[in-house]
Amino acid sequence: MMLCPRCNLRETEASLCSVCMLKIQFHKPEQEWVTDDEIMNHHVMQKIKRGCNECGSHSFAYEAGVKEENELKWFIILVNCGACNKAYEEIMEVRVLNEPIKYEESE
Ligand SMILES: [Zn+2]
Ligand SMILES: [Zn+2]
Repeated sequence: MMLCPRCNLRETEASLCSVCMLKIQFHKPEQEWVTDDEIMNHHVMQKIKRGCNECGSHSFAYEAGVKEENELKWFIILVNCGACNKAYEEIMEVRVLNEPIKYEESE
């Protein structure tokens, strides 16, 4: 297993993970690179699955944001958990700007 070369988020045994495969083949063939929204949505889902850092609650309020700084792109989630009354910021991923992940198109 390796990380999918397009999204770098999900493991795959094929050339692309199943989600990217679907995106490219059926939905947006012009969309070659993974989008910020895709990356962020993935991390939000993972975060909700993991639950609150403090109490493990799966139903917290959150705000997801992308911040660009020093050639880096930060994917950040602000969690505001009503169950334990904790609010905190979590960095989900940092990527280097202007360096799209390349993949070979297999035909
Ligand atoms: Zn992928
Ligand atoms: Zn909590």
